[in-house]
Amino acid sequence: MNYEHSYAQSIADPAEFWQRQAASLAWYRSPTQTLQPQPDGTHRWFADGRLNSSYLALDHQVAQGRGEQVALIYDSPVTGVAEQFTYRELLDEVARLAGALRALGVGKGDGVVIYMPMVPQAAMAMLACARIGAVHSVVFGGFAANELALRIDDARPSLVLTASCGLEFDRVIDYLPLVDRALQLARHQPRHVLVLQRPQAPAQLSPGRDLDWQATVARAEPVEALPLDAGDPLYIMYTSGTTGKPKGIVRENGGNAVALRYAMQQIYGMQAGDVWWGISDVGWVVGHSLIVYGPLMCGCTTVLYEGKPIRTPDAAAYWRVIEQYRVNALFCAPTAMRAIRKEDPDGARLRDHDLSSLRQLFLAGEKLDSATHRWLEQVTGKPVHDHWWQTETGWPVTAPCVGLAGSAARPGSSNRAVPGYHVQVLDDEGRPVAANEQGAIVIALPLPPGCSQTLWGDHGRYLQAYLERYPGYYHTGDGGYLDEEGFVYIMGRTDDVINVSGHRLSTGEMEDLVAQHPAVAECAVIGVHDDIKGQVPLALVVLKDAQTITEPQLQDELVARIREGIGALACLQRARVVKRLPKTRSGKILRAVLRKIADGQAYVPPSTLDDGAVLAEIEAVLADLPRAG
Ligand code: AMP
Repeated sequence: MNYEHSYAQSIADPAEFWQRQAASLAWYRSPTQTLQPQPDGTHRWFADGRLNSSYLALDHQVAQGRGEQVALIYDSPVTGVAEQFTYRELLDEVARLAGALRALGVGKGDGVVIYMPMVPQAAMAMLACARIGAVHSVVFGGFAANELALRIDDARPSLVLTASCGLEFDRVIDYLPLVDRALQLARHQPRHVLVLQRPQAPAQLSPGRDLDWQATVARAEPVEALPLDAGDPLYIMYTSGTTGKPKGIVRENGGNAVALRYAMQQIYGMQAGDVWWGISDVGWVVGHSLIVYGPLMCGCTTVLYEGKPIRTPDAAAYWRVIEQYRVNALFCAPTAMRAIRKEDPDGARLRDHDLSSLRQLFLAGEKLDSATHRWLEQVTGKPVHDHWWQTETGWPVTAPCVGLAGSAARPGSSNRAVPGYHVQVLDDEGRPVAANEQGAIVIALPLPPGCSQTLWGDHGRYLQAYLERYPGYYHTGDGGYLDEEGFVYIMGRTDDVINVSGHRLSTGEMEDLVAQHPAVAECAVIGVHDDIKGQVPLALVVLKDAQTITEPQLQDELVARIREGIGALACLQRARVVKRLPKTRSGKILRAVLRKIADGQAYVPPSTLDDGAVLAEIEAVLADLPRAG
């Protein structure tokens, strides 16, 4: 297949294009209705198709003769454990766990929250939920109790699955106290908490509420996969919006299966039997699409790595994994590669390792800066590709499609739109702009299969957040431009969302927490440049009158507050006291100007600014911040 031809077809006749892609899937009932527009602007894909995502990832692979092939490699430098599961073994584990869930009363459509470290049981938990039609919501293990509570109240799970601990470098993090705290904060209470005891730090279980994972599963009978409608939800994945309340992105079974199969083969160039490494965490969308569902539904071997790019034990960790398991291609966030580059600028650690199995590297989650891009290409000698997507889309929007002939890659760009995505750039009035002109990046409807078409329990918020701003288009929230040949350049978010180490965080949520400090009159949290993490938050604070707190003391207290309220992943390390914040005459804080000042970029003082002198004051306070090189 050829890229230009596929792309043109996918836009001219999306129903026909995706019907053909869907035909290669092992449905219980093949869909006859491919694409149905809804009155509110959303679309239904494969409405009358019936399938099961766990069946496609496991039973179907065994039926195809891959029972003895390794399905999942667990590599954990933090515990010193390495384990492998064949497709048949993984199927047995998942079928039994699904039986345990069912015996605990979990059924089709029920929510299940999974709050787990990077252990194989996290992937098994997802697949077990999928097997019985329960809707899993994995919450990243780095989130604090408050964030877990928010998600529990929104997803209303009948069960929470967790482990006794997670491991960060050489630090053991007890999970159960976090779950206890979250359940104290949450209004909704699950019936049970199933706890995987890890030898590094077994937990004290609460009788009645907590159940031991191993004992419960040992008693269970394996269950078959339940045929589901294509539109039945597979999972909820919470992501930060511009308010404190996270958005529950809903992924449907049918569209997800069709899209991921397409992505694994045509974008990433993977075939059954290949070894794929999605370097991420099950708590993020990449963990869903590229650690669990995508590779397994394609019959690949997937690597689940419980470690870091550095210090587990060193900057050669990734190269060791690639060599040891003969990894063919990988996904990674740029921040991880920047961390490796910082420790091993010449790539000396890499020369001890045989990377001959590796065909290419795909990077996303944030912009791939050209220095890291060049370095990675130089030290590995392999093609390195930037590509762009979001939790909402679930699979890449722009990427080189290495499985399609004639698909070029261009360094500096996130590459061209993938078949299925009609990417355009609009101005403020919703008019398409010329090539190389910046504007809002949008996707003309219909969105292809796999993209979220609703938010859990709040369809109105979905319409308002994504479809109302530009009628007929999905609003990505990213700004940028397309060149004459359709290569896309992402310049960053146009809202108050920042990207820290590839993790999306809401500055609004951080502002809520900062503003609760008794000494703070008002504040703004903005993203500022960081050499490793891409962006980190910075709090600008106006103190209440007659406050005696020093700036370092306030900073310490705010850092602790954000750690407690959101989690260490937020990385708020700096707070600066300012006399006032720049505002419009109607009192809105001019965050866009603050961002420009913090990044050392030129700016035009907005005409709505009430007092120009404030900008000079802010410039003086922020003069010593690190700037993008
Ligand atoms: P998330 O949903 O957390 O994966 O975050 C998605 C956001 O990350 C996008 O809307 C972009 O702002 C940013 N992002 C992801 N991939 C890229 C990329 N390749 N280049 C620039 N920004 C990216």
